[in-house]
Amino acid sequence: MAVTPQQLLRSELAEMRTYHVAEASGFIKLDAMENPYGLPEVLKKQWLEVIEKAVLNRYPDPHAIGLKRNFSQAFSIPADIQLMFGNGSDELIQLLILAIAKPGARILTVTPSFSMYKRIAECIGVQVVEVPLSADSFTLQVDQIRAAIEETDPALVFLDCPNNPTGLLWPQQQVEQVVQQCSGLVVIDEAYAPFASRTLMALVEKYPHVLMLRTLSKMGLAGLRLGCLLGAQQWLEEFEKLRLPYNVNVLTQLSAGFALDHVSVFNTQASRICEQREWLMNAMRALEGIRVFPSEANFILFRTLNKTAEAVFSDLLEHKVLIKNVANADLLENCLRVTVGTEKENRTFIDVLQSALV
Ligand SMILES: *Cc1c(COP(=O)(O)O)cnc(C)c1O
Repeated sequence: MAVTPQQLLRSELAEMRTYHVAEASGFIKLDAMENPYGLPEVLKKQWLEVIEKAVLNRYPDPHAIGLKRNFSQAFSIPADIQLMFGNGSDELIQLLILAIAKPGARILTVTPSFSMYKRIAECIGVQVVEVPLSADSFTLQVDQIRAAIEETDPALVFLDCPNNPTGLLWPQQQVEQVVQQCSGLVVIDEAYAPFASRTLMALVEKYPHVLMLRTLSKMGLAGLRLGCLLGAQQWLEEFEKLRLPYNVNVLTQLSAGFALDHVSVFNTQASRICEQREWLMNAMRALEGIRVFPSEANFILFRTLNKTAEAVFSDLLEHKVLIKNVANADLLENCLRVTVGTEKENRTFIDVLQSALV
């Protein structure tokens, strides 16, 4: 008799569900923190000329030397900080957790935060210690984190700054307190750096046990899948051993390198998105029946007060507007998350939301 998956595979798999991505064709897509603007036409032509030269029969540069140069220059990465690319930062999160996965090792996350930290740890069989943010304002509870660190000694602490899905950017001083209390590694995930008022790169320079994650996804290149891990040489050279050779393909290396040579175009788009975020924030605050939370990212979290989040979400869907229902996460009862879109998309969203709330 043929063996069944349940007999053969790790038992955790039976419990897990596939990562769900909503079907979006025909919808105004405001669910996944994508930049709504594509490449400007002139740049698109130049990009195609670059791509034309791609050598597809050879493996890509295993160290992506050219891309590292483009990246460091575009984001002013200090010279003594090392870089390592991944197929999205998701791959780098996986690699980090694989690297610490000794028997009994733990990671610490705050809740709510980016779901992949926990998901990947569970896939690998690493325990997750979760410390809640403060209810209703989502601030970092530094004392509780300290207590959890003392008790569980996590090898890795993940802090997404700004936090997904709340949009809150915790004060630098609080993040630094966590860094000083942690004897493992602290990973500061700045996926939303293009939309935030500050970066914590200084902490990576100051503390060798602080690593940083960046990604090109939210900036406008989600389709390329390029994430970057930044940190001190002594750590990065160990992680390099776990990285699969050629994990960043030749089209991504060329396209991302080209895009970063023109990073000002993306910076301009990010400023537009921030302006639209403020417009959207004000328009949402003027509506009855929701509470809107502050954001330093390209999305806004809000809570429905008189109707359930599920009802409002479904109503939006019926009007072909797709946002994200996050109401099932800890502390996020009746919360929804909307990505900032184009001016036109945002206006439609406000109109549809307004009628969904009455
Ligand atoms: C979206 C997101 C990522 C994932 O980035 P990819 O590079 O697309 O894999 C990482 N961290 C946070 C906090 C995110 O919100």
